[in-house]
Amino acid sequence: DAKSRGRGTSSLFQPTMDVRAAARRQNENDLRKALALREFSLHFQPQIDLQRNVIVGFEALLRWHHPERGLISPMEFIPLAEEIGLIVPLGEWVLSQACLAASCWPSDISIAVNVSPCQFGDTDRLIDAVAEALAAADMPGSRLELEITESVLLQDADRVLDALHRLRAMGVRVAMDDFGTGYSSLSQLHSFPFDKIKIDRSFVKDRADDRGQDAVIRAIAALGGSLGMATIAEGVETPEQLARIREGGCKIVQGYLFSRPIPVEEVDLMIARHNSKKNTDN
Ligand code: C2E
Ligand code: MG
Ligand code: MG
Ligand code: MG
Repeated sequence: DAKSRGRGTSSLFQPTMDVRAAARRQNENDLRKALALREFSLHFQPQIDLQRNVIVGFEALLRWHHPERGLISPMEFIPLAEEIGLIVPLGEWVLSQACLAASCWPSDISIAVNVSPCQFGDTDRLIDAVAEALAAADMPGSRLELEITESVLLQDADRVLDALHRLRAMGVRVAMDDFGTGYSSLSQLHSFPFDKIKIDRSFVKDRADDRGQDAVIRAIAALGGSLGMATIAEGVETPEQLARIREGGCKIVQGYLFSRPIPVEEVDLMIARHNSKKNTDN
């Protein structure tokens, strides 16, 4: 193998693999230390109710400020955090910070927190973490919404169902994130107590054939409606996309058209500007 041929040879023949493995190890070490070093923060992206044109909630989105590499996307480090088991303490940190932030906002504004499927590996621990985050923030469960992806449903269904029922008993709402990208969606949707469906950005994005997409959006909104679930569209970037979402019957939107995810310091001003303007408009 490469090792037995000696250092010089192996670096000649397998430079990228060695470099990649080393970079991964480095990332892993950095990630393990990042929580203690306070390198994480949350950004918040508003969710807008189209009928009333007010902000009804924010989604908390995790950011990693690496001292040398700068801002690193969650798409890059969440999978690694899941692999090395760090996602459990990290997810608990997100829950507590998100609830603390939201406890300072008007009480009709909710906070959505992404929960990794790995956190459903120990549902008792997850529920304890939720209860603790709510208690520490002195916030009712009804202001918290957990976003989970379809892959959670591939786990032991009884255990997941039990956890969802316990969460709902605390008043916490559950949204299915990235709806339509997994394969279990339609067969499983009706048997799980979701409050909300988040239509994946891939259905909102412009494509050559948007007649088909409009039909899909309409169908998901109708399906949600008949199951008693609200629908929210994510990734709305243009007025044209917004018009299509609206026509499709989807009542809540989130996307760059309204705002990118913003630092916590900017949330108060955004709520004041957006929501109070509506009150004087009417
Ligand atoms: P997600 O939960 O589906 O979050 C939506 C993603 O779409 C966010 O990316 C958001 O910044 C982005 N987005 C919002 N509006 C638009 C838009 O109009 N156009 C485009 N192109 N993108 C838009 P972000 O923040 O990079 O997060 C990526 C994913 O990382 C999230 O997808 C979620 O799966 C995961 N993630 C983020 N924070 C957490 C967390 O605290 N815990 C866990 N377990 N996962 C997280
Ligand atoms: Mg989400
Ligand atoms: Mg999503
Ligand atoms: Mg996603």
